[in-house]
Amino acid sequence: MQSILRIAIQKSGRLFEGTVKLLSECGITIDSSNNRLIFQPSNFPCEILFLRDDDIPKYVEDQVADIGIVGENVVLEKNKNVSIIKKLGFARCRLSVAIPKSEVYSGINYINGKRIATSYPRIVEKFLRDNNINAEIHEISGSVEIAPSLGVAEYICDLVSTGNTLKLNKLKKSFDVFESQSALIVNKDVENDERKNAILQNFLFRIDSALKA
Ligand code: ATP
Ligand code: ZN
Repeated sequence: MQSILRIAIQKSGRLFEGTVKLLSECGITIDSSNNRLIFQPSNFPCEILFLRDDDIPKYVEDQVADIGIVGENVVLEKNKNVSIIKKLGFARCRLSVAIPKSEVYSGINYINGKRIATSYPRIVEKFLRDNNINAEIHEISGSVEIAPSLGVAEYICDLVSTGNTLKLNKLKKSFDVFESQSALIVNKDVENDERKNAILQNFLFRIDSALKA
């Protein structure tokens, strides 16, 4: 049987364009036009699985996929048994704490004793622990920036790039908790499969050339 490398990527969203571009620079042409969940490129021994980004670490842990391309923020938050073998440089963003525009920020201890709404409870909890801050985490899965106006939390911790969404909700950024970019994750067992590992090494070599160019 022919070996192939199964690569999990985001189906659509902020990682998609950069992922397709990188794969194309690696000589792997993807056709996602027909809305399939699995695609086999003709020019590299791999299979592309199109998934929600949140599911990628779990699929790689479970060996449904051998490797995946996903944001470091998701890798850290999901905490699955996978390793980051390469940072890919696109989809850069920051996980930042934001406070109401009217307040005057005075340093990270400013959030002590307050409630922080976030979709990244694990990352925020680690930050609080590392910095000896005592704040309460209020987990919500989306539209985090409306939490302060709903009164469920004083502050939020969310991914920020332009700050427009914050502004719309009368919030402003105070400090960064985590800086993220896209990363390549692998299932640790891939290295034990000689043929898959050979394809992986070939893929890594192509990624290095693409990133250098
Ligand atoms: P999915 O439907 O796959 O679950 P999503 O809505 O959770 O997608 P996107 O908004 O597409 O996720 O973001 C995917 C990833 O892109 C984020 O987890 C993060 O790593 C990265 N990212 C880059 N820039 C930004 C940004 N400005 N805002 C949010 N995420 C960003
Ligand atoms: Zn997602």
